[in-house]
Amino acid sequence: MQSKSEVLASCNLSQEQLDSYWMPYTANREFKKNPRMIVSAEGKYYTDAEGRQVFDGLSGLWTCGAGHSRPEITEAVSKQIAQLDYSPAFQFGHPKAFELAHRITDFMPDGMDRVFFTNSGSESVETALKVARAYWRKKGHGTKNRFIGRVKGYHGVNWGGISVGGIGPNKAMFGPALETSHIQHTMLPENLFCKGMPETGAHLITELEEMIALYDASNIAAVIVEPMAGSAGVIPPPVGYLKRLREVCTKHNILLIFDEVITGFGRMGSNTGAEEFGVTPDLMTIAKQVTNGTVPMGAMITRKDVYETFMENGGPEYALEIPHGYTYSGHPVACAAGLAALDVLENDQLVSRVKSMAPYFEESVHSLKGTQYINDIRNYGLAAGLTIEAAPGEPMLRPYQIAMKCWEKGFYVRYGGDMIQLGLPFTVEKEEIDSLINALGESIRELD
Ligand code: PLP
Repeated sequence: MQSKSEVLASCNLSQEQLDSYWMPYTANREFKKNPRMIVSAEGKYYTDAEGRQVFDGLSGLWTCGAGHSRPEITEAVSKQIAQLDYSPAFQFGHPKAFELAHRITDFMPDGMDRVFFTNSGSESVETALKVARAYWRKKGHGTKNRFIGRVKGYHGVNWGGISVGGIGPNKAMFGPALETSHIQHTMLPENLFCKGMPETGAHLITELEEMIALYDASNIAAVIVEPMAGSAGVIPPPVGYLKRLREVCTKHNILLIFDEVITGFGRMGSNTGAEEFGVTPDLMTIAKQVTNGTVPMGAMITRKDVYETFMENGGPEYALEIPHGYTYSGHPVACAAGLAALDVLENDQLVSRVKSMAPYFEESVHSLKGTQYINDIRNYGLAAGLTIEAAPGEPMLRPYQIAMKCWEKGFYVRYGGDMIQLGLPFTVEKEEIDSLINALGESIRELD
């Protein structure tokens, strides 16, 4: 591996330039001592500053399932910049935004047919939470303000997202957030090393009913969950859990939001988690895979009747129905990227490819059971999470060490908290799964 000064020299960067960038969600001090620079990407591989090929075991950040630098998307984006680089997001439209909105609905469960564009998962969550509250106000239920999230839920980093989110360190530094409550996660001891959906856990929805009894449904706007929690380390829902969640929300007139920023567009072997589990929410959020990670874009998706609630009570026709939106909502370049990315997904039948590769991946990742320090393995589709036993007094050290060893061996896996996460490219081959799992196993066995 190159030394820091060699990496900087290869990238033509100075120490001052390295210092200038406050990197997000990164241990800046560690990275700046030991910079791992990616200079290009193609297909399933990155090239680092040294010219090494590194297998992308997280598809970007759950973004690039179809592989990096797909020529179809690159071409669509270049053409779009030349033709219409920007068009005001407000008061004017451009055709591709309408085309993409409609195209997205092809991938959504029946009835989810109104699309509000954002630029990220966090903005999609923020939009869903605001729409949920505003919806109840439009309906004359002004006290329905509270949100219910889940422990270990991840919903991005904006105020709404960290309020409903259930990962402690993401909230602790920032002080008071929105009024929210959290139901338990579903990582029960009896579900350890479960392949796919655990059998046990649907009973946990009782806690939601107790919470509704405590706060009263007249004060609760929405419940938000990821159909499969991703960032907390891949936690598939227990059998029957989401169906019970849907029933309770419907019974008590509480909106159900599925955050499908990771699960949308193929990761689980279906178009969405909602489709995979046969449960349709009232609002959904998507991002990441919609443009195959090429251009930032997200969206909030809902039913026609929710949209119509705003239209019907919107005042004079020239008045805004909802004062919410972003300068870059429905950006022409993102729309061009989205249309091309969804074509790639469909033409290459990548969603069904995920489904057909998932059993091989499941067996492969679970073959690591019994390796030192692995306390749990979970998987679904082409996603998996491993819980790593903490080193004494150093809760996050081992996952970091494992990810760095993998990187040295030519494999990118993500570490976070006490977890290692894998999110394979949808085009992965069996031999690549074997090599990745071997490298991961070796990296864990090499730990002291
Ligand atoms: N929601 C979920 C489920 C996510 O996994 C993420 C990001 O990983 C987000 C929201 C936030 O998305 P972004 O980082 O694009 O703001």
